[in-house]
Amino acid sequence: MSENQNGAGDGPILAVRDLVRTFRTGKVEVQALRGVSFTMARGELVVLKGRSGSGKTTLLNLIGGLDKPTSGTVVLDGREVTSLDEDGLIRLRRETISFVFQSHGLIPVLSAAENVEVPLRLARTAPAERDRRVETLLALVGLADHARQRPYELSGGQRQRVAIARALASRPRLLLADEPTGQLDSETSRAIMPLLRAVIAAEGVTVLVATHDPIVIEHADRLLAITDGIVTEEPLPARA
Ligand code: ADP
Ligand code: MG
Repeated sequence: MSENQNGAGDGPILAVRDLVRTFRTGKVEVQALRGVSFTMARGELVVLKGRSGSGKTTLLNLIGGLDKPTSGTVVLDGREVTSLDEDGLIRLRRETISFVFQSHGLIPVLSAAENVEVPLRLARTAPAERDRRVETLLALVGLADHARQRPYELSGGQRQRVAIARALASRPRLLLADEPTGQLDSETSRAIMPLLRAVIAAEGVTVLVATHDPIVIEHADRLLAITDGIVTEEPLPARA
């Protein structure tokens, strides 16, 4: 059996099949996803582009086990997310996937280093290993000199980089980023994709970024477009 450094095997890290998610509020029915299928290979940086309301967050939530589909399956690293019980989902969120959101969600009273350390404390990682891991991750996101600063002492871009470091702490196989540049100016947004690429190289993680930000779309390895709950593969935009 071959086993690569990133996990269970050589198959795709993610396989989404015929995913349907219908929301019902009273008598109104919204088909947020209408039969979505795609796969992602290990180490890819994939951008899912779509306007507001096209179904991006719904799809990421289903992949991450935060929501259940109406029908269809999500297979992550060889395991079917859609059939996991509550314990299995907790383990999945602790070990296999990680989220970065539009709002960084850092804990204001903790320093950058302490924020990155939170998932390691939850995983009961030994203190010496925790310190090493935090140092490595802050260096990776270019914040080695900001370890002791609190979120309010950092810029928006720096806070988002702390959030990325925190999301990597537990060594996830798949990082799901939902509009990560949504609250950043364009100068700062420009740095996010090269950073994610560096993260993939250093940590062997795979990254799916949902966005409608043209700056992000420009830097995709692979582009998926979502329109009214349908996902299609798109050619990459020509690079200047
Ligand atoms: P995006 O992230 O691309 O903006 P969403 O996935 O949030 O899109 O939403 C897709 C569609 O599903 C929208 O029409 C939205 O109103 C609807 N929707 C999302 N979540 C819910 C929910 N919990 N209840 C009802 N409708 C929802
Ligand atoms: Mg959204």
